[in-house]
Amino acid sequence: MQTTDASQLASTVHQVEETYRMRAVLVPLDPTPAQEQLLRSYCGASRFAYNWTVAVAKSNWDARIKERREGVDGAELTKSLSWSSYSMIPLWNSVKDEIAPWHRDVTSHAFRSGVTNASLALKNFTESRKGVRKGEPVGFPTFKNRHSRQSFTLIDFGRIGSWFSEDSRHVRLILPHFATEPRITRRREQLQWIHTTESLRRLKKKVASNEWTIQAVTISYTGGRWRASFLIRQYIIPSPSCIRLRESLVGVDLGVKHLATLTVPIPGVTDEHGQIKNPCHLDAELTSLAKLDRQISRCKKGSKNRAKLRLRHQRLHGRIARTRNLHLNRLTTTLAGSFETIVLEDLDVAGMVKGSKKNTTAALRRSILDAGWGELRRQLAYKSEDRGHQVVLVSRLYPSSKRCSHCGETKAKLAVSERVFECSKCGISLDRDVNAARNIRDEGIRLLTNEATVAGHQSETLNAVSRDRETKPPWRGRGDRYQSRTTQPARNLSPLA
Ligand SMILES: [Zn+2]
Repeated sequence: MQTTDASQLASTVHQVEETYRMRAVLVPLDPTPAQEQLLRSYCGASRFAYNWTVAVAKSNWDARIKERREGVDGAELTKSLSWSSYSMIPLWNSVKDEIAPWHRDVTSHAFRSGVTNASLALKNFTESRKGVRKGEPVGFPTFKNRHSRQSFTLIDFGRIGSWFSEDSRHVRLILPHFATEPRITRRREQLQWIHTTESLRRLKKKVASNEWTIQAVTISYTGGRWRASFLIRQYIIPSPSCIRLRESLVGVDLGVKHLATLTVPIPGVTDEHGQIKNPCHLDAELTSLAKLDRQISRCKKGSKNRAKLRLRHQRLHGRIARTRNLHLNRLTTTLAGSFETIVLEDLDVAGMVKGSKKNTTAALRRSILDAGWGELRRQLAYKSEDRGHQVVLVSRLYPSSKRCSHCGETKAKLAVSERVFECSKCGISLDRDVNAARNIRDEGIRLLTNEATVAGHQSETLNAVSRDRETKPPWRGRGDRYQSRTTQPARNLSPLA
């Protein structure tokens, strides 16, 4: 009975859904040495423009503060500068010949992305100061140096043409139009396409069918490797999954010993109790990381050996992150495809790691981050949405571990070391995580039935992760407005129509 309620609700939730969503597709790159040199110069240019924007904004801001302190007011005050990218980009274009005479050897996209990112950082600072922005307070942007993350963004205004080569194995690298440097002008042909280590066939097909539209491409040096991140506008066409549903609803308890405990076991994914072991990707490499750290500390600063070891260190971290992501992706795809409704606990991961250090040891905090609960939730949210399914979040204050899932008796205290839940009232003895997962499932059902019966009731469930802390990238603006006006079915839309 309760399960039918849940499925009815799922269908009503999806009628009000927006027709598209932004997502990122990551592509590992394999540039030639000449291409890598060019990529590094683009990253440097982006950083240069970023720092220039921050410096201009800062000097204007400081000047006004100083004048106000000296009692200057009204018309005599230095005019305030608009920090938006629409004002900053023309300003940059007017001074670039003077401050960056080399700018013709770098694509204009690199400078634009630097200025845009800086004005976004300035906007976050202003909004945080006014109290408009949620989340942690944001300070005035700081300058970047060559040790900061290396990246630049190419924004697609529809004039770039195809991003992919004929063989689906190369991504377009935009070259500066008016380059004077012979290493670029002589070798345009060789520089134009960057080899990728993965096939782009799926991405190419989706873009060709207008299901996905590429908005921007960010190329970055992450984890010791180059990669491209395609920012994609995806039209949401909820399609029922091909896998037969196991059951309509599942409760999931996330933990450190067991990454997840499900109320419904899935053969091949979980054990017979519905538990999935935590693979502890970081723990497995801790010895190698410590060894590398020791070797690095013994090297002379600025030496070639140190640089080599640092690269190995970066790559090891990159590999750990990729393995974790692969594991989570496999798990979330199965989960999102197998259940119509997934009930999760709304864990405050940042708070658990940052908060009181009395209850958590360094090892536990590391394990929490290594498990990747936040990423698991994020992936589940969008994958469920793709299939027309939903994720329900249970309040973090709900005592899922302390309550008996059989009789409802709540214990006053339950130590983390107690792995078995023993009820003093009904005498049931259960694995701690299994008990918690059942409680989460029951609470999820309660939330869904309440919501369905109480009209006009404020929704307690969320269909996706709240993204309080992020601000929309500015280049989404125009396209979004265009999209909201159209009433045609999303699939037939051509980006040029
Ligand atoms: Zn009991």
